[in-house]
Amino acid sequence: MLRICPSCKKMLDITNFYKVKYYKSGFSSWCIECTKLYGIKKREERRLKVLHHYSNGEIKCKLCGYSNVRALVIDHINNDGAIHKRALKKKLRYEAGSSDIYKDLIDRNMPIGFQVLCCNCNTIKQFGRN
Ligand SMILES: [Zn+2]
Ligand SMILES: [Zn+2]
Repeated sequence: MLRICPSCKKMLDITNFYKVKYYKSGFSSWCIECTKLYGIKKREERRLKVLHHYSNGEIKCKLCGYSNVRALVIDHINNDGAIHKRALKKKLRYEAGSSDIYKDLIDRNMPIGFQVLCCNCNTIKQFGRN
């Protein structure tokens, strides 16, 4: 059985689609590849949106100015990341990952208490606590 994916317009075998019980056709409308890409794109968009919000215009590490977006993270200024994750876990009913945290910040209209750091500065900050 073949099916056209409306996203990539490719004619694909039905095994390239997710089985979705509650859809009439029984399959996802987008192919697996497109669905995955879309998820990645969405997550990346959310991450950039959050990083942009917490970095006063230019996306970079607040401490050292490192600006490679790939290595930038959202830091809990008051080191309450564990509490935040626990609260999210309660809400989501699963262990929250970083993309859940970004989504949560957007859902809550970017609350205060966060800053952008690079992985290095973030790690150093964690060590500084002990
Ligand atoms: Zn597709
Ligand atoms: Zn840094």
